[in-house]
Amino acid sequence: MFSIKPKDHPESCTADAHHCCSTQPKGKMECPVCHKKAKGVLAKTLKHLLTDKAKATLSSLDGFYYCKTPFCEVVYFRDETVLTQKEMSVIVGLKEGAVPATVCYCFNWTKEKIREELQANGKTKALEDIKAKMEDPGCSCEILNPSGGCCLGDVGKAIKEIEKELLSP
Ligand SMILES: [Zn+2]
Repeated sequence: MFSIKPKDHPESCTADAHHCCSTQPKGKMECPVCHKKAKGVLAKTLKHLLTDKAKATLSSLDGFYYCKTPFCEVVYFRDETVLTQKEMSVIVGLKEGAVPATVCYCFNWTKEKIREELQANGKTKALEDIKAKMEDPGCSCEILNPSGGCCLGDVGKAIKEIEKELLSP
């Protein structure tokens, strides 16, 4: 008989400070408006992306969650506090109707630019460009991207969405 060893919990693994995509707080919370699960964001993300006016109304920037649901107007929430595009100093590209629809804030890739490339060449170099620049000069997702995290998943999704959109009559 073999005994099945329980999987090791990776809780002891601490995020390396130099890795931009691994510093987000753990755990998820339900958005009070759309009820989808949202990821936590660091105070420094809000510090860079909220308007001064919004920051002045908050006692602290800790413990907020980021709602990425396109049709939900909530950008960040914490308990009863809800922050929307009005409180942001950047356009939240993943929300419905956002112009420009920025998907990569570090290297400035927008859905508009990806669409243009796909229309002109049938392909886009967004992902390879972002990956190359992540190596050098490196990214700052945690202070530039409203999600506080890596954009690659969002960029991949955006490319697929636009490809589908261009194929349909
Ligand atoms: Zn929401």
